[in-house]
Amino acid sequence: MAEIVIKGVAKNFGSFTALHSVDLTIADQEFMVLLGASGCGKTTLLRIIAGLETPSQGEVWIGGRRVDHLPPRARGISMVFQNYAVFPHLTVFENIAFGLRMAKLPSPDVDRRVRRTAGLMHIEQLLKRYSGELSGEQRQRVAVARALAMEPDVILMDEPLSNLDALLRLEMRAELKGVLAESKTTTIYVTHDQVEAMSLADRISVMNGGYIVQADRPTEVYRNPAARFVGSFIGNPPMNFLPAKPDGAGRWHVAGQSFAGPRTGGAEFAIRPEDLHPAQTGLQAEVRVVEPLGPHILITAQVAGQPFRALLESDHTITPGEVITLAPVPDRIRWFDPETQKAIA
Ligand code: ATP
Repeated sequence: MAEIVIKGVAKNFGSFTALHSVDLTIADQEFMVLLGASGCGKTTLLRIIAGLETPSQGEVWIGGRRVDHLPPRARGISMVFQNYAVFPHLTVFENIAFGLRMAKLPSPDVDRRVRRTAGLMHIEQLLKRYSGELSGEQRQRVAVARALAMEPDVILMDEPLSNLDALLRLEMRAELKGVLAESKTTTIYVTHDQVEAMSLADRISVMNGGYIVQADRPTEVYRNPAARFVGSFIGNPPMNFLPAKPDGAGRWHVAGQSFAGPRTGGAEFAIRPEDLHPAQTGLQAEVRVVEPLGPHILITAQVAGQPFRALLESDHTITPGEVITLAPVPDRIRWFDPETQKAIA
């Protein structure tokens, strides 16, 4: 069992706070993705779990054992980074065997484990090659195989696919998901790529400015952002936001339209671009740019002077300069508190 519990973990670099008292529990065998823009603290959190960085405050527990005072090798984890870190002067076999030999595993066991994990990563045919001769993708397969060969309770990965081109990334993503699901490890995976996060994660922790803003299943994070930041960060294009004013009769004025909304307080209206469709009544959008994207067209417009995007079926003929009427799908409308920036239920 390798549940990971992070309790009140904070990290300061001098006067700069990279992490503010983070609490997070990752279940045994869960695939958790840390997602956020550059500088949000995701690598710092991963390095603290790995033992490569000391927290300024807080505790890290792995499998019921407090580990924040233990060195990395005593924590039962394997790591995979974006820069491969395979030894070019060793063969693929010796690279995968490296940690097993350090752990003084008997030779037949080393052989068995190397062949098995090389098989999982489809690199059996490369075992005798020197790693320095391999392509970036092959080296990354070696790095993953080496981590898996340790049969760790926990695998930590920091942007492991970011050096691959788009097509290979897609392929490796699906393979990683399959292999890690079978390996029964607990995985923490750092990325700034939201598509990668959505596709791989059991849960996503969305980070911003050293905080975890929301930790939930991908569909929840997408459909029910806990905060405005999550709606504005996840989704390509992201959520649209419009100011709302109470009409005094229990409804809200949004860009000249009336909507049912929250009972009290201030509110901001939010809708995803794909949750809009052309209709007789709705929001008046002045179309600025029309981009065909294959199955959809992306409309960039202004609604009540605010930037606004809609993703529509590609059979609509819409031209720049036109004013179109867009109706939001009622149960996809979300509301945020303009002061706290949190979602209003
Ligand atoms: P990236 O994807 O760019 O690595 P990240 O979300 O992983 O971003 P971190 O690497 O965790 O971000 O860094 C968080 C913040 O802490 C950044 O502003 C970074 O500049 C700062 N930081 C990280 N390591 C150090 C350090 N050793 N000394 C000073 N500041 C640091």
